[in-house]
Order: sequence, then structure tokens, then C-alpha cells
Amino acid sequence: MKYLSAARAGMVGCHACGHVQARAAAARVDEGARPPAPQRCERCGSVLHLRNPDSISRTWALLIAAAILYIPANLLPVLHTQSLFGNEDDTIMSGVVYFWVSGDWPLAVIVFVASILVPMLKLSVLALLAWTTQRRSDWRPLERTKLYRIVERIGRWSMLDVFVVTLTVALVRFKSLAVITAGWGALAFASVVVLTMMAALQFDPRLIWDCADAQTPQASGHEHD
Ligand SMILES: [Zn+2]
Repeated sequence: MKYLSAARAGMVGCHACGHVQARAAAARVDEGARPPAPQRCERCGSVLHLRNPDSISRTWALLIAAAILYIPANLLPVLHTQSLFGNEDDTIMSGVVYFWVSGDWPLAVIVFVASILVPMLKLSVLALLAWTTQRRSDWRPLERTKLYRIVERIGRWSMLDVFVVTLTVALVRFKSLAVITAGWGALAFASVVVLTMMAALQFDPRLIWDCADAQTPQASGHEHD
């Protein structure tokens, strides 16, 4: 085999302190007997996992919750404005349309990309990764790993979307005295962002390579390149 992983070498790395140690042989569990205690790090005592436990099912659960909340995030108003000119509710899309129509098209593009396009792409990419990994697919592991890295990297900037939407709409649209409050859509949108970030954290990209490695015929012994 070309690449050797700790799992294949019978080793396991500690998530807490990074110490790599031999994996304890899986004890046989008799029917009705108590499952054996999980192996702990010999240096720091943390419970050892080869891969994130229940990675795929946890990713799915968080993704589905995020996808459901994506609907109210776009349908419900993110901003509620009370001013002398009356009350007004704005959804993300109506904010985009407002900027576009009033000639602030760079702002319209920023809000559209940050608040509608990027969250949707992140959900789609994570769903694709979870689905292919669940099927134990060996399809393009390198590209899938790169996709994962991109999603994980934009995750930390996602909360910016909320501020972009609320601040820009508020600042540009209402120069007069007005009371602006966040609508339920903003809460739903923030939940989508957080849930997607958690889904990305739960997904264990090493599973991609476990599947890919399992498909390649195993050579006997270790070859050195
Ligand atoms: Zn440790």
C-alpha cells in the first residue's frame, strides 16, 4: 500500500494530547455482558477514538436541522423597522432586491452571495460528502477532501453574513430615526450558520480515505517509496 494510516498500523492518536499509541485489541463482547470500557490515553487519560464517533449520523442530523431552518431563514423577515413612515419587514431576499433596485448592486451581490448562495453551497457540499462517505464510495477522495477543507475554512467567516445583512440594511436603508429590531428570520439564519458549522466539525474527513483505501487491493507488507 502506498499510504499508511495510524488506523491501518494498529495505532490510535489521542485527540487531546496527540500521543500516538498502540490500539488495544477489540475485546469480544458476550451477549448480555457489559461492553468493555473504552480505551483511554496512556498519557492524559482521554477516551481514544479512531474516528469521530457516529460521525456520519451526527453530520446528517445537524445538516437536516440546518436545511429545515434554511426555509424560515429566507421566508421570515430578518429585520423589522418602525419609523415615522410606518412599519416594514425585510427578508434577506427583499434586502437584496432593495439594494439592486436602488443602484447599490455591489451590496446586493455581497448580501446575496454571503446569505443565500454560500449557505446553500455549504449545505449541498456537506450533504454530498456525507452521502458518498456513507455509501463507502471511493470516488475522487482528493477532491472531496479539498471540498471539505473549503467548507471548513469558510465556516469561521459565516457569522459575518448575519452582520452584513443586518448592519448594511439598517445603515443604508434608514437614515431617518427608526427603531430596528431583528426578526425571527435572523434567528433562523444564525441557527443555520451554527448548525452547518457543527455539521462540518462532526464530519470526519479521514472516513473518505478509509473508504478509498478499502477499495484498493492491498499489497502484502509495506512498500517504501
Ligand atoms: Zn492523551
